[in-house]
Amino acid sequence: MLDLRFDNVFVRELPGDPEQGARLRQVDGALYSRVDPTPVAAPRLLAYSAEMATALGFSAADLAAPEFAQVFGGNVLLDGMQPYAANYGGHQFGHWAGQLGDGRAISLGEVVNAAGERWELQLKGAGLTPYSRGADGRAVLRSSVREFLCSEAMHHLGVPTTRALSLVGTGETVVRDMFYDGHAAPESGAIVCRAAPSFIRFGNFELPTSRGDIALLRQLVEFTIRRDFPELEGSGETLYAAWFRQVCERTATLLAHWMRVGFVHGVINTDNMSILGLTIDYGPYGWVDNYDPDWTPNTTDAQRRRYRYGQQPNVAWWNLSCLTGALAPLFDGVELLEAGLQHYAATYAAADRANVAAKLGLAECREEDAALMQSLQSLLQQAEVDMTLWFRALADVDVQAPTLAPFGEAFYDEAKRRAAEPAFADWLARYAARLADDPLPPPQRRERMRLANPRYVLRNYLAQQAIDRAEQGDMAGIHELLDVLRHPYDDQPGREAYAQKRPDWARHKAGCSTLSCSS
Ligand code: AMP
Ligand code: MG
Repeated sequence: MLDLRFDNVFVRELPGDPEQGARLRQVDGALYSRVDPTPVAAPRLLAYSAEMATALGFSAADLAAPEFAQVFGGNVLLDGMQPYAANYGGHQFGHWAGQLGDGRAISLGEVVNAAGERWELQLKGAGLTPYSRGADGRAVLRSSVREFLCSEAMHHLGVPTTRALSLVGTGETVVRDMFYDGHAAPESGAIVCRAAPSFIRFGNFELPTSRGDIALLRQLVEFTIRRDFPELEGSGETLYAAWFRQVCERTATLLAHWMRVGFVHGVINTDNMSILGLTIDYGPYGWVDNYDPDWTPNTTDAQRRRYRYGQQPNVAWWNLSCLTGALAPLFDGVELLEAGLQHYAATYAAADRANVAAKLGLAECREEDAALMQSLQSLLQQAEVDMTLWFRALADVDVQAPTLAPFGEAFYDEAKRRAAEPAFADWLARYAARLADDPLPPPQRRERMRLANPRYVLRNYLAQQAIDRAEQGDMAGIHELLDVLRHPYDDQPGREAYAQKRPDWARHKAGCSTLSCSS
């Protein structure tokens, strides 16, 4: 039963805090603190990812056993688990924030599965740690549902991400002031078990450097390269440079995926940037409904919009430049680090062109195609058009006689649609002319577009509907959504409701368009 093989190299090879337990403290000279999850009243398995369960080798009997909820609710440790909270810092909203650390995430250990893959398992909302900084170490059901669903949805979209094994209800309430307006209220508590080959963040490297502990920094860099980037060769500065270049490349690829599918992370602080280039820490994220590069779902960022959709690639660059600051003591000069940043810019630019070609169904992106995309984007923004519906319908345009007919569902505002009709007609004519000069045969073009333009994404209002049902004790909404999002690029007859644009009632409803960080 629940037979996992653990190989906990992170805690075995790296220096840990000599003190155990959750007493709040500054932790110097150590990369983690050993701390156990705090047991919960009545853990109950609410949902699980079949793919992750299979990857970890769990049987149907394992999943059905009461012990499963006990373990992934944090009440029981399996043989080989060595729970810890990681110590890291970070730049939050542009400012150095000092020590942050896992305030409510507790890693249980690193599983090596039958295929030899490493999956670190981590409970989010597992109770107090030395890094809880005055908060309660817990997570509410609504934010846990959002993290659980989106982790798996992103995976199925082909976007690099941490994964989610399970969603466990704690049988306890958690008090949150959801709107930060002085009306704190009890909400259902939950715990997600996340899984990833590594949970190391940019902020893990920033903290030792900020304290002048270069030996600790070097130890972490050497460890990360050996465990998480084993394909890299060499030693010293050459090796570090090759590694940083890889980090830049993966980050660029990640950002290009976010932009392609219309995902807005919401809080891209450096402590929320994975060294593996995975999407990590699902908080007040959102999906673009009506195309708007200035949109952010995060109400905490509503004024400055630092982390708005269109700004994300630049923010990632800024975060990578924070990482260069953290790594600089390991280099003789800045050239190799600057080369890494340039590699980020070049990789992102190439991936962005690849997005243009794939989303528009072109064999390649020529110079003038970027402009074609830009004029489309400004039309979509002005006329308030749904991004996902528009791009999905684009494959249905009749190139001989292009009209707006395939896009009827994509407009949010009838008056704006009518006003923009002539401009769209011009654009479609340009597009049709461009397609006439493209070598891709129509069936291949359609297939290319289908795989770049998802039909189903986790729109905020869909997640909120599943949450509303879950709060009433009905988990079917979560299971259905999880199942739909398993095949985001396929048309799924009978499931049209999940592909609809945001309904009017959801436009300004909390959770459906904007979210606070309260989670
Ligand atoms: P985030 O921006 O959500 O990734 O969180 C930023 C920091 O706050 C991290 O160090 C988290 O561990 C910590 N944090 C967030 N919520 C809680 C909570 N309820 N209890 C303890 N720490 C928290
Ligand atoms: Mg975080």
